[in-house]
Amino acid sequence: MNRIFNFSAGPCTLPVPALEEAHAEFLDYEGKGMSLIEMSHRSKEYDAVHMEAMDLVRRLYGLPDNYKIMFLGGGATMQFAMIPMNLMPSGGSCDLTLTGAWAKKAYADAKKLGTVNLAYDGSDEKFMNLPAIADLKVTPGTAYFHMTSNETIGGVQWSDFPDTGDVPLVCDMSSDFVSRRIPVEKFGLIYAGAQKNAGPAGTSIVIIREDLLERSSDQLPAYLSYATHAPKDSMYNTPPVFPIYMVMKTLSWLEKQGGLEAAEKMAGQRSSLIYGAMTDNPDFYSCPVNASCRSKMNIVFRLPSEDLEKKFVAEALAEGMSGLKGHRSVGGCRASVYNAMPVEGAQALADFMAAFAKANG
Ligand SMILES: *Cc1c(COP(=O)(O)O)cnc(C)c1O
Repeated sequence: MNRIFNFSAGPCTLPVPALEEAHAEFLDYEGKGMSLIEMSHRSKEYDAVHMEAMDLVRRLYGLPDNYKIMFLGGGATMQFAMIPMNLMPSGGSCDLTLTGAWAKKAYADAKKLGTVNLAYDGSDEKFMNLPAIADLKVTPGTAYFHMTSNETIGGVQWSDFPDTGDVPLVCDMSSDFVSRRIPVEKFGLIYAGAQKNAGPAGTSIVIIREDLLERSSDQLPAYLSYATHAPKDSMYNTPPVFPIYMVMKTLSWLEKQGGLEAAEKMAGQRSSLIYGAMTDNPDFYSCPVNASCRSKMNIVFRLPSEDLEKKFVAEALAEGMSGLKGHRSVGGCRASVYNAMPVEGAQALADFMAAFAKANG
């Protein structure tokens, strides 16, 4: 086996034990003579996988009983639409923190369905900064308050969350889902595309406080209503069985590592190694993001020239490190270091960064 260190932003590296188990079980699941993905989604074998995947989300976050978990299609992107459709009354409003490329997409969809008040607009600072939590103002009576906990492209991450009182806090956690402990009771709804920390592409995970289900109008088409999916544990229609199975394997691996506490510790180690390599060579590497809000999941950095950035990405690949090119919209370099990236991978990148700066500085 010749696995390289994959720093891709998503889909991304997954835990080897999860991949190996899926491989071993693929043709003949538990002696049934067929693959799990060939079975009815109503079979008892699939049902056990589905319910365990949900229970893992609940156990990892320590979710109280009044939160429901859903596995839906359409990625996190569909939630940009489903959230306002379900939670915002017709002619209503919500608050949103505009913190980067992903928040912009959530903003664009919500604006089509109601009024969006910007509780923070980071565009003047090119989305390289975040405000203090205490400076966020919640509009009284608004439908919900939307945040993006980690901006995957810009590399900024909130380290704390506001108390929004009666206004439900809604958060896109796509790129830092299950990577740290969070005060779950503060949230009304949490959502994440699975493909950045929790499994492969193909399902999104939505956690909703049960009382919010009452807001979904009967006029919504069935699939677009949370009130359809939540009471049926996402078995209203055929769920994305293979992605959910891989989420179960991935989260089960995480639980064996020590859960969110271990995830948080490893994220701290990986990110310190890579940011440390920049601080050690300050004339060569620069991080555009304000030091107070640098992401522990998506680490963005610049080299002295675009030519050197190209060379860096190519030489890193030759050394067994892929996916280091920055997002096409911002350029530069980016190392995505999700849960399944071994700390040794971050160490290998930090070592390479030091050697590359020495050879080219
Ligand atoms: C990737 C990503 C999305 C979009 O996810 P899809 O599953 O591709 O729709 C949304 N928000 C954030 C923060 C992301 O990183």
